[in-house]
Amino acid sequence: MFVCGPTVYDYSHIGHARTYIAFDMIAKYLRYLGYEVFYLQNITDIDDKIIDRAKSENKDPLGLAKEFQEKYMEDMENLGITSVTKYAPATEYIKQIVDQVKRLKEKNIAYLIPDEGYYFDLKRFPDYGKLSGRTVEDAEDAVSRIDESTLKRNKGDFALWKFSRPEDEARSEGTAKPSEPSWQSELGAGRPGWHIEDTAITEKEFDSPQYEIHGGSRDLIFPHHEAEIAQMESLSGKKPFVKLWMHTGFLTLNGQKMSKSLGNFITIRDLLKDQSPEAVRFMVLSTHYRSPIDFNDNLMNQAEAAVMRLREFVLNLEKADGKADLPTSQADEEKKSDYTNFFETHRKSIFEALDDDFNAPIAIAELFNLIREFNAPLHSGLISKTVANQVLDLLKEINGIFGFIPEKSIPLPDEIQNLVDLRETARNEKKFAEADELRKQILTKGYKIDDTPYGPLVRK
Ligand code: AMP
Repeated sequence: MFVCGPTVYDYSHIGHARTYIAFDMIAKYLRYLGYEVFYLQNITDIDDKIIDRAKSENKDPLGLAKEFQEKYMEDMENLGITSVTKYAPATEYIKQIVDQVKRLKEKNIAYLIPDEGYYFDLKRFPDYGKLSGRTVEDAEDAVSRIDESTLKRNKGDFALWKFSRPEDEARSEGTAKPSEPSWQSELGAGRPGWHIEDTAITEKEFDSPQYEIHGGSRDLIFPHHEAEIAQMESLSGKKPFVKLWMHTGFLTLNGQKMSKSLGNFITIRDLLKDQSPEAVRFMVLSTHYRSPIDFNDNLMNQAEAAVMRLREFVLNLEKADGKADLPTSQADEEKKSDYTNFFETHRKSIFEALDDDFNAPIAIAELFNLIREFNAPLHSGLISKTVANQVLDLLKEINGIFGFIPEKSIPLPDEIQNLVDLRETARNEKKFAEADELRKQILTKGYKIDDTPYGPLVRK
């Protein structure tokens, strides 16, 4: 499995978290099922955006990329993203990139524009557009990182190798900092185009022109993934390049595309100042990986309440003292065996949901059904130690895939917890005046309650 990694010119944002948490869950679930998964991710550490940013800050582009690559790795670690087998920075694959361009040139698919670089001739790949349903002509209105040159054969043709400008070459040989990194090669001094890095990396690391799963977010379907198909299928003559394309839905912020200029840009590290990684993972996984997420405070509050509830449930299960294992009345014995059956049913539904295109939100809903069903009997001692342990094992298995159950939580003071519990009981019994009164009491003691579908979120 290969997933498009970040372009490292800035701190990673919550859109990145959305995509990489989803693929982390996918890789972990595949491994849970017994598949051997080589999960490869590139790092785009040479790109126009990096060069522009470095120029504006008067920094060395490769140094700037390295700095943000390190920050990215820290962010991933802090989010519990541990499934990636190998991270592959593009600049470590220049030899393979040059080799692919040379082979495309030998096949007359790559053509030269003097002083500019080598371009891919889209007319030489009639299948272009098969992933996105767009055509070579549609490529003309593509806005996303299409390389501009007035001398291209077709408007959508993209750069495979960009020649260095003479001043950059001079700089890279001399004392001044090069504004554009440049590599000497048989193609001429230059740097890779955007699309070619991924096919060069996967061909080398998978030792094959074909593989199983390619991921990224929806924004990359066109032209990036279309271009990858064009490059690799025309090089190898083998179809399909990948068996399965998996695209995550885009994350927006309060209904808008995230953008620095709009001032609505949240980095992963800023979010993690106020939120636990478990809550961030829950927030992402409670939406299907293919659906969009519109991020807002309410969504984060729900996630925070949910992970606190999960943690509480674990603590309650651990407290099951075995009282229920002693023989009791016939009626209670029957109820106890019902709980074993409930458990099996929920367990089955959770994994059936994941088997159906990694439907994490349905799996989560089933998990919370289980919690709702077990909480009351757990309190009244009707859950046997054996069943409690089975549920704990299930939670451990699920957490190995989802990673959203916190190891620790900051407990509320007993007095507050008691009031919150009383309020919940009152609400369940539809005694709303009493519940409101309790909320006021809780508030005067300095705690605020937000009700969410996963239960109340109580904050100091
Ligand atoms: P980039 O750093 O823009 O090259 O993106 C790296 C990866 O994150 C790619 O797979 C993108 O599709 C994905 N990505 C970027 N922005 C978002 C977003 N707002 N929501 C979801 N995924 C995103």
